[in-house]
Amino acid sequence: MKITKIETHVCHARMRNWVFIKVLTDQPGLYGWGEATLEWHTRSIVGAVEDISDLLIGEDPTRIEYLWQMMFRQHFWHGSGIVRATAISGIDLALWDILGKVANMPVHKLLGGPVRDTIRTYSHLGGGKLEDFYETGRDDARRFAELAQKAVDDGFTAFKAMAVPETMPLEGLRAVRYAEANVKAMREAVGDDIDIMVDCHARPSPAMGLKFGKALDDYGLYFYEEPCWPESVEGLAMINAALTTPVATGERLTSLDQFRQLFDARGCEVCQLDITHCGGISNANRVAALAEAHRISLAPHNPQGPVSTAASLEFGFAQPSYIICETVHADVPWRSDVVSEGFTVEKEGRIVRPGNRPGLGIEIDEDEVARHPPEKEMVQRSFYSDGSVGDW
Ligand SMILES: [Mg+2]
Repeated sequence: MKITKIETHVCHARMRNWVFIKVLTDQPGLYGWGEATLEWHTRSIVGAVEDISDLLIGEDPTRIEYLWQMMFRQHFWHGSGIVRATAISGIDLALWDILGKVANMPVHKLLGGPVRDTIRTYSHLGGGKLEDFYETGRDDARRFAELAQKAVDDGFTAFKAMAVPETMPLEGLRAVRYAEANVKAMREAVGDDIDIMVDCHARPSPAMGLKFGKALDDYGLYFYEEPCWPESVEGLAMINAALTTPVATGERLTSLDQFRQLFDARGCEVCQLDITHCGGISNANRVAALAEAHRISLAPHNPQGPVSTAASLEFGFAQPSYIICETVHADVPWRSDVVSEGFTVEKEGRIVRPGNRPGLGIEIDEDEVARHPPEKEMVQRSFYSDGSVGDW
């Protein structure tokens, strides 16, 4: 069996271009789907997949680890830059999909079989609608509460909000009070039985991340995400040690060594590895083993397209330290038209039960993808009040 072609199918989904990867083989009808979505890097990803194809055409697609080593180590430059790592991840997911189809088994069975019956999922505030999640005003606590209630009405038992305003490296009490008011309003709206998460998008400095974290600590957040830059491992460790609320991070890490440094420093309690950036299922397995040794939980980052979701769930059914999966459902209204999924989601509680379809259990509708051709992503930029550049 040989790989004959690797295609990219780009689907414009408003805030991001979903980059689907299709690995084709010389066996009639046998191919695999992966996803290598990387916001504002669509053309780079398409090019990177083309570059990697030179290594893989003619190879046996079922030798996944061998091919992973080839993609990561050959061509001299190790595959841990975000573009190459994302391309490798997308191809790796497609190879696991192929292996599952060859074995006639879902990927979670290839990974050792299910360790749980269901997976809990959580939503973004607004279900992933750009304006609700990213643009609710910092001084609009009432809107945060309304959207929180909506998430619960939609069946979720957990949701995430960007309730911490952007700040310069050091600011006084005002921004902290906004964050506190937003979280207080959400907590009062949904009560103590619902889990609330706050994502800082790595905007704060470690000093501001600590201030926000301390102010929110009494609201019992399920986790507190990216309270400072991911590169600042010592900053993350300082905040994690100072709070009762567990710190979560990891969505931007692309190599096992980066996760090792984070875990060794105890920079988090929740690892948000992204299966489309961290090296696919093959490397996610290694990260999971490392996390297990540190008793760090897994809660994958997954705001992308439907192949990312299917892979994150297949991985989760086989991982003991997995606690919850991020999902979006309202980013574009035609999301479910693009994909047929093997798993089922129960509206009450938004829990997922596995399916029995082989591989990742999905089929992508290429005609539907073609109805949403690639476009430039919506530009998102951030500046502080003095005109200097901030993190989005
Ligand atoms: Mg995040």
